[in-house]
Amino acid sequence: MSRALVVGSGPNGLAAAIALLQGGLEVEVREAAGWVGGGLHSAELTLPGFAHDVCASVLPLGLGSPFFRTLDLDVEWVHPDAPAAHPLDDGSAVVLERGLDETASGLGSDGSAYRRLVEPLVEGWDELAPALLGRVPPPPRRGLRAARAAGLRGFAAAARTALGDARSVAESLFETDRAQAWFAGHCAHSMLPLERRPSAGVGLALAVLGHAVGWPLARGGSQSLADALAGRVRELGGSIVLIDLDGLKRINDTEGHEEGDRAIWTVATAIKKLVRGNDHVIRWGGDEFLVILPGMDEELARKRFYMLPSKIDEVKQSPKPGGRPYTKFLAASVGIHIYSKRVAVDVAIAQADRVMYERKRAHRELRSPAGEKTQ
Ligand SMILES: Cc1cc2nc3c(=O)[nH]c(=O)nc-3n(C[C@H](O)[C@H](O)[C@H](O)COP(=O)(O)OP(=O)(O)OC[C@H]3O[C@@H](n4cnc5c(N)ncnc54)[C@H](O)[C@@H]3O)c2cc1C
Repeated sequence: MSRALVVGSGPNGLAAAIALLQGGLEVEVREAAGWVGGGLHSAELTLPGFAHDVCASVLPLGLGSPFFRTLDLDVEWVHPDAPAAHPLDDGSAVVLERGLDETASGLGSDGSAYRRLVEPLVEGWDELAPALLGRVPPPPRRGLRAARAAGLRGFAAAARTALGDARSVAESLFETDRAQAWFAGHCAHSMLPLERRPSAGVGLALAVLGHAVGWPLARGGSQSLADALAGRVRELGGSIVLIDLDGLKRINDTEGHEEGDRAIWTVATAIKKLVRGNDHVIRWGGDEFLVILPGMDEELARKRFYMLPSKIDEVKQSPKPGGRPYTKFLAASVGIHIYSKRVAVDVAIAQADRVMYERKRAHRELRSPAGEKTQ
């Protein structure tokens, strides 16, 4: 099976991971930050319980992207009364309303020019979106459908505008300072100088999205979209590792519980050296640990977790403050199995358990060639 490594867990990375998993590939997502989501991250920046979007906050494409729509994610979208308002120096504001009529009337004498440009795109949005947000360049049939939906003249005008710079488009399209400033405000989201192409395209897209989709926020913060996407990646696959600390009962019985606790601490600290930020480590009974590695295939999980003995040795040699290692011989057995939509987590745990006991038995036989039972 082909394997893909996705670098970064922003919305594009997670969407790519889902598409690759859906395509049957084994996928691992690597994230450098201590959280998933990239630009969708939300954090408690002020008071406990108050989530703030650190970067992206209004997510028209979170709702309007044809790919995201197919995922039917568990995100509650909240629409403000009006998508956006651009305040002006005289204390008034020009408002992007959901309705095209209301927006055009707020633009006064520039309303009809705005309507001429935007209306064909709003009406043809369902056909335009797959062409604009899909493969580049779009397949010819999809491109043709999009052009037909917006009308050839409307499509050509929109394409010219989209490729232009904000200043030239605003000045040629609108007469009033109010409309020009309002359009420039949308274009500024491109983070390009307003004289640079294609800043006008970003402004145009945001205005069209305001009417066709709205500018929704995700309830609970943009992180909830990231979490829903990451949840879908996890649902679609990953690896389960079951780790059994060998001989813990003997250590507890013969050397005392303090030594037993040191043995547990040593193995847990070694496991921590092998996991990534988004993995889950669970104490699974007295002498077992369960590790869930979302998006990691079995081969990679094996490569990583078969290094556990050497990590245990590292911990023994250089313990971190906060714990004293168990210094005598210490071994742990590892069993790994994948989980996915088709292999439920409990089935994967049972399989990992079986693999772990087979490996434990094989190691025992190796250590005791005469076949004598060891504890
Ligand atoms: C200030 C600001 C406000 C914005 N507001 C909005 C908004 O309101 N609405 C909107 O739709 N868009 C907004 N955007 C744009 C939006 O944030 C981005 O388009 C979106 O986040 C891009 O997603 P991405 O997956 O491509 O990359 P990112 O979201 O940037 O994610 C990239 C991820 O990759 C990780 N990474 C990078 N290098 C490595 C590496 N070598 N190894 C492992 N991990 C790595 C990063 O830690 C990060 O988590 C805003 C952008 C900014 C900067």
